[in-house]
Amino acid sequence: MTNNTNEFASTNNPYQMALKQLQETAKIINLDEGIHKILAKPKRILTVSLPVIMDDGRIEVFTGFRSQHNDARGPFKGGIRYHPQVTIEEVMALSMWMTWKCAIVGIPFGGGKGGIICNPKKMSNSELERMTRRYAYAISDIIGPYTDIPAPDVYTGGQEMAWIMDTYSTLKGNHGEPAVITGKPLSIGGSLGRTEATGRGLSFTVREAAKRQNIDMNGATVVVQGFGNAGQYAAQLVEEQGAKIIAVSDTQGAIINKNGFRSNELIKFKLENKSIRGFPGSTEISTDELLTTECTILIPAALENQITKDNASRIKTKIVAEAANGPTTPEADKIFYENNILVIPDVLANSGGVTVSYFEWLQNLRREYWSEAEVNERLDVIMTRAFGEVYEAHQKYSTNMRTASIALAVNRVAEAIKLRGIWP
Ligand code: NAD
Repeated sequence: MTNNTNEFASTNNPYQMALKQLQETAKIINLDEGIHKILAKPKRILTVSLPVIMDDGRIEVFTGFRSQHNDARGPFKGGIRYHPQVTIEEVMALSMWMTWKCAIVGIPFGGGKGGIICNPKKMSNSELERMTRRYAYAISDIIGPYTDIPAPDVYTGGQEMAWIMDTYSTLKGNHGEPAVITGKPLSIGGSLGRTEATGRGLSFTVREAAKRQNIDMNGATVVVQGFGNAGQYAAQLVEEQGAKIIAVSDTQGAIINKNGFRSNELIKFKLENKSIRGFPGSTEISTDELLTTECTILIPAALENQITKDNASRIKTKIVAEAANGPTTPEADKIFYENNILVIPDVLANSGGVTVSYFEWLQNLRREYWSEAEVNERLDVIMTRAFGEVYEAHQKYSTNMRTASIALAVNRVAEAIKLRGIWP
């Protein structure tokens, strides 16, 4: 299969990267050419123009997208991001990655993603509300509890989800359709455990990786790059397993304490001081030193492209658990594989978030709400099973965990497409 995958080859965009991954996986699993052609393109991409009356009376027209990649395994699922750099190719790539992520954890969803080209930091709350509602209206015919269930992503959160739920419900003439969207505040149908879900899910995959590598979590040392939502809960929860957090960083800098930090105290300090810099008993190090500090587990939880061919060979760790999306470049991946460093890839390590979104949707459909303990137990079952399956595929295909994850996912989606057939 060359035609479809090469049509973007001359441009450097995320969609091209996603196609390249699919192409490499197709070779390994001997994917049917026709199925490859189907998977190389989203099933539907909607582009919408959103006229919004700004606070000063001007009309601004924003562009929004919703890409629905594949729904062979269930309704499309994926976040909505607000960012000046959103592009149609980015949204298309992210929707494909959501298809893989949902298939890896085995939840009955396909992949979707949405976005609006805007700068939410420069907009008032009422402008954001008008733009969000206009977007919800514009995509209302293609979303729904059984068709496409959006969620928060970069610079969107509970408030935006609440506006979308309200707009959709009002348009459809019902009193509240919580299952059309996830990531909602608790009072309108959000799930307990959602805030911690990404870090908690990651901590389960780390536990499983440590077992396979014969690493005792008691006394394991951990370095965390990026101390936000994902990084903080990941740190706290691996510490609960006995590990010692020895170095952390945020945008302001990096700190180390070989005796170990108490992550609860670090979280409190960061909340009060807006940074981890200056934490009592810590020594400042450079961000490069942070990544190359010798440790058992390295958790990149900040941005993409942090681990590259320039630093990967100096990284002295046993496990890299990717809380962030895309922190490791393909060249760095190769170096890790050669150096016997086990990478728990983003599509597996940070999939606790979408898994608890699935729980939120289930609770909404049944109008029944679970305790936090129940959410966490079910998350453990799903993450443990997914880790085991990816680990097995990585051995079976003699490839790294990232390629193994995508191979597993593509196989599952391909099987669903074949069974359902092409109709009409
Ligand atoms: P966040 O904004 O809460 O935290 C990001 C943290 O990274 C902040 O503490 C920031 O100071 C720090 N940071 C930014 N640039 C840095 C740099 N160059 N060096 C060191 N630290 C830096 O965001 P988050 O929700 O925790 O997301 C972090 C990553 O995890 C992103 O890649 C995101 O896509 C991914 N992720 C998050 C979730 C989730 O549920 N929160 C789910 C899946 C994936």
